[in-house]
Amino acid sequence: MPFKYDPGKLGPQEVEIAITHCGICHSDLHLIANDWGTSQYPFIPGHEVIGKVSAVGDEVRLLEVGQRVGLGWQSNSCGVCEWCTRGMENLCLAAEATCVHRNGGYADRVRANARFVIPIPDALDSEHTAPLLCGGITVYNPLRTHGINPSSRVGIVGIGGLGHLAIQFAKVFGAEVTAFSTSAAKEEEARALGAHHFVNSRESKALKEVAGTLDFVLSTINADQDWGVYVSTLRPTGTLCFVGIPPSPVSVHIFQLISGLRSISGNPTGSPYRLKEMLDVAARHGVKATTESFPMAQANTAIDKVKKGKVRYRAVLAN
Ligand SMILES: [Zn+2]
Ligand SMILES: [Zn+2]
Repeated sequence: MPFKYDPGKLGPQEVEIAITHCGICHSDLHLIANDWGTSQYPFIPGHEVIGKVSAVGDEVRLLEVGQRVGLGWQSNSCGVCEWCTRGMENLCLAAEATCVHRNGGYADRVRANARFVIPIPDALDSEHTAPLLCGGITVYNPLRTHGINPSSRVGIVGIGGLGHLAIQFAKVFGAEVTAFSTSAAKEEEARALGAHHFVNSRESKALKEVAGTLDFVLSTINADQDWGVYVSTLRPTGTLCFVGIPPSPVSVHIFQLISGLRSISGNPTGSPYRLKEMLDVAARHGVKATTESFPMAQANTAIDKVKKGKVRYRAVLAN
């Protein structure tokens, strides 16, 4: 039996979305298992939502009933702190995640503050766009924050749910893109997505060959690696940025950072402004997720397949 709940009266600044699509993100799997100790049950995951506005609160100005919209990881923030007023709501200390202590998008309906509900450009179809709302912005935001441009040499570690989007965006920004994967079989796919070079990261010789060649390396994987090797791929002033979460602490020799002014960084999703910008870029440049679709009622089957790493590259639930 599907779980039912009464969401109460719609808040004045809230929007209700009738969900047509919701992507499955790895964070959902962590939240289902309460890996981060924040989950409350019964738990409704889902934070890559696309649907149509079904109701708007009294104070909502910019959105209308019937409009196609998206909702990502974040559903609310304080709106008045330094970070919110600087357009970096993703850094707000009072930020509310769509499915942490709120009911998420594996559902018919979901609610969020209107500031986090983003219109979807007509050129984008819902199934291939839903994963951009979390997976896409997670890789788009660091590429933008670190000023990736046509002179940049970018490495993307891992060709999966996040990596296959990161390669496309880095290519759109004009960068020379090097894809790193432990699976030689992914070379062709990486190149089709826009990678100029492919490095089999199981081969230490191949890794040594790219030492000192990259400006920015984005790691999308959830596995432990010899991160010092990736820091050595950086040119002076280069950054190794994490969006995937390896289980163990990252250990590198600080001398590697001091020499060459290199740094290690991370990125938490993106602001509503960046989400709008990303969707516009995706619409103009044809960036889309490679997806496999499942009916919403088969969410458990889909989650199982994602857990086993059998979905290329993002599962999307459809109502
Ligand atoms: Zn996510
Ligand atoms: Zn705030």
